[in-house]
Amino acid sequence: MASMTFDGVGKTYPDGTVAVANVSFAIADGEFVVLVGPSGCGKSTLLRMAAGLETLNSGRLLMGDNDVTENDPQDRDIAMVFQNYALYPHMTVYENMAFGLQQRKMPKQEIDKLVRVAAEMLDLTRHLGRKPGALSGGQRQRVAMGRAIVRHPMAFLMDEPLSNLDAKLRVQMRGELKLLNQRLGVTTLYVTHDQVEAMTMGDRVAVLKPVRNGLESNLQQLDTPQ
Ligand code: ADP
Ligand code: ADP
Repeated sequence: MASMTFDGVGKTYPDGTVAVANVSFAIADGEFVVLVGPSGCGKSTLLRMAAGLETLNSGRLLMGDNDVTENDPQDRDIAMVFQNYALYPHMTVYENMAFGLQQRKMPKQEIDKLVRVAAEMLDLTRHLGRKPGALSGGQRQRVAMGRAIVRHPMAFLMDEPLSNLDAKLRVQMRGELKLLNQRLGVTTLYVTHDQVEAMTMGDRVAVLKPVRNGLESNLQQLDTPQ
């Protein structure tokens, strides 16, 4: 586990669009920070920079005391959960959860142990042999979470992970996700446009506004929800 620090981070796309300007904040070790703001204010860009999927034009990103600004995504020890789950449809739940560990050439028995522990936490043990198409929306979301937690990453990045669920399930999963985060104590940056989600889930809420000019930070505030 480690804190995550954005230090004067900025991003200008090749076409000249300034998506993120001079953003500085730190997420404490084990803290759950929700990132909100109107469409186009740079939430996804910030998350993708943290994941290493987008380069920074200015500033640094730290994990604990380590500068990971130049690290490849696989060298950041960060797990990402997307809104569309991005599960492999032809693989079982087990195989979906094991895949990332297999890529890292981890021994089979070790993979098996990690997958089963994660499946147990997420109430997926009975479904390990099924394919995503045979699961409910909530179960699929849990598999996506399982794939993220299975390797005990230092941090989670989540991009609207509940937005494809119906309203009732969304409320249930909010609670489940929050509980899971408390049990695991993983540093989390969670993007949503849902105010209720932000207020109920965040230890703190970071509000972005659209970039006005490239100098003024587009981080509007960072507060503990009332
Ligand atoms: P949000 O996630 O808050 O909706 P984004 O990070 O997706 O915001 O986008 C921030 C700004 O950057 C927007 O103006 C958007 O149009 C622009 N943008 C996003 N991706 C690209 C890209 N690949 N090339 C150019 N501009 C982009
Ligand atoms: P379901 O009841 O969902 O169809 P199955 O009975 O087919 O599930 O399989 C469940 C068992 O098979 C679980 O104990 C699971 O751990 C194991 N399993 C499924 N896929 C794999 C795999 N690729 N490697 C190892 N074990 C697997």
